[in-house]
Amino acid sequence: MIEIRNLSKTYNQHQALSSVNLRISTGIFGLLGPNGAGKSTLMRIMATLMKPSTGDVFIDSLSINAHPEKVRRMIGYLPQHFHVYPQLTPIEILDYVGVMKGLTNKQERKEQILHWLHEVNLTSKANDKLKTFSHGMKQRVGIAQAFMGNPKLIVLDEPTVGLDPEERLRFRNLLSKEALNKSILLSTHVVTDIESSCYELAVLKKGELILDATVDQLKERACGKVWEGIVPPGYLENLAEDTILSSEHRGTTIHARVLAEEKPFNGAVMLDPNLEDGYLALLGGTSS
Ligand code: ADP
Ligand code: MG
Repeated sequence: MIEIRNLSKTYNQHQALSSVNLRISTGIFGLLGPNGAGKSTLMRIMATLMKPSTGDVFIDSLSINAHPEKVRRMIGYLPQHFHVYPQLTPIEILDYVGVMKGLTNKQERKEQILHWLHEVNLTSKANDKLKTFSHGMKQRVGIAQAFMGNPKLIVLDEPTVGLDPEERLRFRNLLSKEALNKSILLSTHVVTDIESSCYELAVLKKGELILDATVDQLKERACGKVWEGIVPPGYLENLAEDTILSSEHRGTTIHARVLAEEKPFNGAVMLDPNLEDGYLALLGGTSS
């Protein structure tokens, strides 16, 4: 069990996190929020790379403030920008991380390295230097190193950026397999990443936690508010941009999907909301 208690972070004068409280149990937990919401700040604190201004995080009752070294071994972390020396190979990077995670037995370390490289489909590149890798391949090395040492908590900051559709699918399957016996916290600003792998999620906006709910509960935020149809000429020009979910030219007419409390125009049909609708309804519905 992971417990985030009253966590705040101020950079100079700027409040990046304000009194965040959250409990995360086993499984995949999504952290959603626009750019600048504080997702990476929260994750860096959880990974013990940065101290909070106030508050604490407990990993199985162990405080990150009181026991950062112990906690560090219980956490795997993929930063938003995973930079490593271009001269190193995946095996060398994973070996280093394994040592850091307390895997002192060389044979055990080797087995884990081969296992995780296989899981991210990099076995054939195990001894190639990272400077020859594409962005997606580096990202997969980053994912593999986060799992080294079988940590209790895996913190992945925007892990799907740079992955192609096939790699995303592989990644999703890896997460669902691993989530049976650990907590995986996954941040993203891409709603579909959450929809396809998480059951629970939290939404950060300007440093504040504005939602802690299930995926279905977030969808419900837009219940009765999603409308679609052929819009009258000039209609979209007068709408706030964050209420236009999509619009499409079909011949001489425009079909649009919009958020509205009531039937917005003649012929509009109410639709069941998807997660993105719920997310946009939530963001638009809180003071900005
Ligand atoms: P997210 O990951 O959700 O995009 P961040 O945690 O990166 O958000 O940033 C949250 C806020 O804190 C932003 O306004 C950002 O500009 C600011 N911020 C992040 N890191 C620093 C830093 N090292 N120094 C000053 N301000 C920062
Ligand atoms: Mg970020």
